[in-house]
Amino acid sequence: MTLDVFRCTACGTTLFPARYRCPACGGAQWATLAATRGKVVAATTVTHRVGVAGAGEVYLASVETDAGPMVIARLDSAAREGDTVLLDIDDEHRIVARTRSASNPQVR
Ligand SMILES: [Zn+2]
Repeated sequence: MTLDVFRCTACGTTLFPARYRCPACGGAQWATLAATRGKVVAATTVTHRVGVAGAGEVYLASVETDAGPMVIARLDSAAREGDTVLLDIDDEHRIVARTRSASNPQVR
C-alpha cells in the first residue's frame, strides 16, 4: 500500500498525518499525494521494549518524504542519515522504509 500525505488545495501546505483544518490557512479541502521515497534524517535502533522479551531489535528512522512531510518509518536493517529509502505501508498499517539492496535496485 502506498503512503499518502495530504496537500491543502487552497495553499499547498502538505501534511502527515491528516488534519481536519490546514494550520496555515484554515482550509479543509485536501488532495492526497503519494510519498514513495524519502531521505533518512535520523535513525535509531530499539533494543529493549518494556513487556516484550526477546523481540529483537527494531530499526526506526525519521524520513523526510519527497512530498515534504516527515514520517517515522520502520526498517528491515539499520539506516544511516542521508540514506534514500522507498516508503510503503505494510499489512499492519505501519510505515516501512526500504534501503538500497539487491532486492531494491531502484533505490539510489
Ligand atoms: Zn492551507
